[in-house]
Amino acid sequence: MDCDHCDAQSGAARYLPARGELRLIRVCDRCGVEVAELGRMPYAPAPRLLTIHLVELTARELRLSEQRVAALRLAALTGEQPEPGSTEALVIERCASYVERSADGGAAAGTLHAGGRRARGKRTAAARKEHIEQAFARALSRHDTRLDKAAA
Ligand SMILES: [Zn+2]
Repeated sequence: MDCDHCDAQSGAARYLPARGELRLIRVCDRCGVEVAELGRMPYAPAPRLLTIHLVELTARELRLSEQRVAALRLAALTGEQPEPGSTEALVIERCASYVERSADGGAAAGTLHAGGRRARGKRTAAARKEHIEQAFARALSRHDTRLDKAAA
């Protein structure tokens, strides 16, 4: 197409589900071609957004280091699985199962048992789960209810 893209241009956003990103771009109004990329931002539609939010709040309630909070947030965003049985994995499972339940009316709880069934270190895992459960409860009471509505 013969267009020099010199007419008006508009801002637009393209969602990249695989990357959990929103690309902010400028497009030519005449031919629709993308002229420039203005930036990218992490983005996931609710209910994943709610999961990520809860994961971050729970991590902070657990007083994890900023580094671990950031890593957890990224894992929740990308869907990457932390080491099974780790605090990170348990936090994500807990938050994801809450969001799934509130979305499906209690039907889906499968992720609760993901990566379980390890005899070794079972007791410490149970204690950690309890610790995380309490942190999650505090996080839930703090979390922004507007996000809850957005996810519904
Ligand atoms: Zn053009």
